[in-house]
Amino acid sequence: MRSYRNEVEALREQLVAWRRDFHQHPEVAFEEVRTSQKVAEILTELGLEVQYGVGKTGVVGILEGTGNGPTILVRADMDALPIQEENNVPYKSQIANRMHACGHDGHTAIALSVAKILAGRRDQMSGAIKFVFQPAEEIAAGAKAMIDDGVMEGLKPDVSLGLHLWNDMPVGRVAVTRGPAMASSDSFHLWIEGRGGHGASPHQTYDPILAAAQIITAAQSVVSRNLPPLDAGVLSCTMIRAGDAFNVIPSEVEIRGTIRSYKNEIRDLIVTRFEALATGIAQAMGCTARLEFFEKTPPLVNDLAIGEQLRHGFGQIDNSLEIVDDVRTMGAEDMGFFLERAPGVYFFVGSANANRGLDYPHHHPRFDVDEEALVIGASLLTAAVADYVIPGQ
Ligand SMILES: [Zn+2]
Ligand SMILES: [Zn+2]
Repeated sequence: MRSYRNEVEALREQLVAWRRDFHQHPEVAFEEVRTSQKVAEILTELGLEVQYGVGKTGVVGILEGTGNGPTILVRADMDALPIQEENNVPYKSQIANRMHACGHDGHTAIALSVAKILAGRRDQMSGAIKFVFQPAEEIAAGAKAMIDDGVMEGLKPDVSLGLHLWNDMPVGRVAVTRGPAMASSDSFHLWIEGRGGHGASPHQTYDPILAAAQIITAAQSVVSRNLPPLDAGVLSCTMIRAGDAFNVIPSEVEIRGTIRSYKNEIRDLIVTRFEALATGIAQAMGCTARLEFFEKTPPLVNDLAIGEQLRHGFGQIDNSLEIVDDVRTMGAEDMGFFLERAPGVYFFVGSANANRGLDYPHHHPRFDVDEEALVIGASLLTAAVADYVIPGQ
């Protein structure tokens, strides 16, 4: 792998300026109008073929080399969050209740930098790069929307690459995790129907609240008793609604929650067991239960061989970095949709700096990153992509 650190250093000011500009103008899911316009303008100036409105506010930039070779998908998410920023920095969000509190401003600036550096090497390139600027990652809808709009068709990607700035790790540490790195995320609605009545006459009712309590408790046996102990899974009931008066036993309870796992077969097992417990317990208590399940994102699984290649290459080009292979979270990312269709890697770039107070967690109103992580991220992503499309560089 060849280092692109010098090229990124030369672009450092521009990279930081882009990130700060996006930071000051955050836009939430599917409202990334200014952001996508700016991205499209920059890509057009760089001479890329640009497609607008892919998945509503998504933008695709295609950089084709002069020779034949693989097509590499580079993905950056562009959306911000409905959070009021509490940082006092010159590049603070200018929009009330809107904030780049996850680092997607940095991801967008990094992908633009990769595009700029490699656009200047087009005549050495064999193959193509598809830069995918995705909307609505935070509501897990943007990747699917772009795929439904045909982003994986036409010039078909062979490999998918992307990164996330990661404040759970100090700047200088990079994680290229083996296999599953982030979980599938699905939600459910469970309705338990009984027969309501007077709070003083429970014998005349089938109390759905008592049934719900048993079901919620029993649901905790799915992960502990039904999953193989070395497989990860989560089943959390996070919302419960029932009743309107202190002396009325209601006739219905609604429970909502989330299911997480690293494998599709575990995901199916959790749903099947949960449904069997809910319907069985409800029936035994004179009630009925109905489970509705909403698939949001698949597990995010890194390709083992590509991961190995990247860890090796990253270590080669920058021995000041600490490269680890085991950072996992039950949090979710819709990058998994791209990786399901074209194998690749989504790596985490440490961005925290505790000495400078830059270590608030993602989605916190004081979240901010050490901008050195932008330079590291852009260097590594450029090197990884170039490794595929610039042979013998
Ligand atoms: Zn986020
Ligand atoms: Zn994020």
